[in-house]
Amino acid sequence: MIPYGRQEITQADVDAVVDVLRSNFLTQGPVVPAFEQAIAHYCGANHAVAVNSATSALHIACLALGLGSGDWLWTTPVTFVASANCGLYCGAQVDFIDIDPRTYNLSVPRLAEKLSLAEQQGKLPKVVVAVHLCGQPCDMVGIHDLSQRYGFKVIEDASHAIGGRYRNEPIGCGRYSDITIFSFHPVKIVTTAEGGVAVTNDAKLAHKMDLLRSHGITRAPEHMTHEPDGPWYYQQIDLGFNYRMTELQAALGVSQMTRLDAYVAKRHQIANRYDQAFEALPLTRPWQHPDGYSGLHLYVIRLQLDQIKASHRAVFEQLRSDGIGVNLHYIPVHRHPYYEQLGFKAGDFPEAERYYAEAISLPLYPKLSEADQDRVIQAVAAAVLA
Ligand SMILES: *Cc1c(COP(=O)(O)O)cnc(C)c1O
Repeated sequence: MIPYGRQEITQADVDAVVDVLRSNFLTQGPVVPAFEQAIAHYCGANHAVAVNSATSALHIACLALGLGSGDWLWTTPVTFVASANCGLYCGAQVDFIDIDPRTYNLSVPRLAEKLSLAEQQGKLPKVVVAVHLCGQPCDMVGIHDLSQRYGFKVIEDASHAIGGRYRNEPIGCGRYSDITIFSFHPVKIVTTAEGGVAVTNDAKLAHKMDLLRSHGITRAPEHMTHEPDGPWYYQQIDLGFNYRMTELQAALGVSQMTRLDAYVAKRHQIANRYDQAFEALPLTRPWQHPDGYSGLHLYVIRLQLDQIKASHRAVFEQLRSDGIGVNLHYIPVHRHPYYEQLGFKAGDFPEAERYYAEAISLPLYPKLSEADQDRVIQAVAAAVLA
């Protein structure tokens, strides 16, 4: 099976991890700060806080922004459930904004309409999570303008998007948002096995997230309520978690980051090859907004079902049986039973549901060979032309 995504692990990666294994610190040593420094430097952000997953990063980002019970978090329905669950973890309520039919990111016109309605009802969101689906940046200027007008905070869920750019600046630079989070799960663009990072330019938010990732404990006298009792002393000043990243993970991350630009360039090369091969087929290829340079985590095609004999499901099953590890990103979050039990139902977000009825993610990763890509192309052509 040709998978839809796959990590690359080099000898340098292995050596970096083994060096940590033989060192004094497996956790809470010098490599996590080095990884944070590498990410912050790459993005042009002032602060980076590394944690054990992007899900944890989303959780502490929401808490740092003050999200709690009685508040609302809004995001797109076409995302991994973690982009929405983080609001529920904080006791807030979650709602969705339908997607743009061309980029599949949350639609800024829909956001503007919903905000105007919510203002009348006194239910404005405290946080909007903008997900850069497939690595393509959202319309961040539009979202930022609305955040100024309506007073909500913005988190960029850039789990798909490290290495991408928006208006010629790196995603994560923080010009249009409060916090940006990245995922380093193995299918993502670079990996730490499991891991996430939150970047911000706000020192207070960074400090709050630093506390929350490790039990809310501080060892810095200036943050304590009184002078330390002695050299052993620390204080718990907030209710935090153990969301720490290990030194092993960070070492893998530092090593992988040296190849980030090359990986994203290779992803573009592979995507261009798909674009050319699919030109004459009854499917919609990914459209790239000129404001962005996508990290291209995913290559999603949409079937033009009125021109194809087979159903969406039949094409998907055919590709799987041909040994192509296609996937579907994503089942709209509001259609999961957990969210339906909160009151959401089919028809709530029609563009997202249309997307779900047509989308298929094809294999895309730096080590995908031309021969394997040709197998994918032939299988797709056969399945949609049958
Ligand atoms: C992968 C992913 C996450 C969660 O990342 P983890 O590191 O696995 O917790 C969150 N949001 C999106 C959009 C993702 O793709």
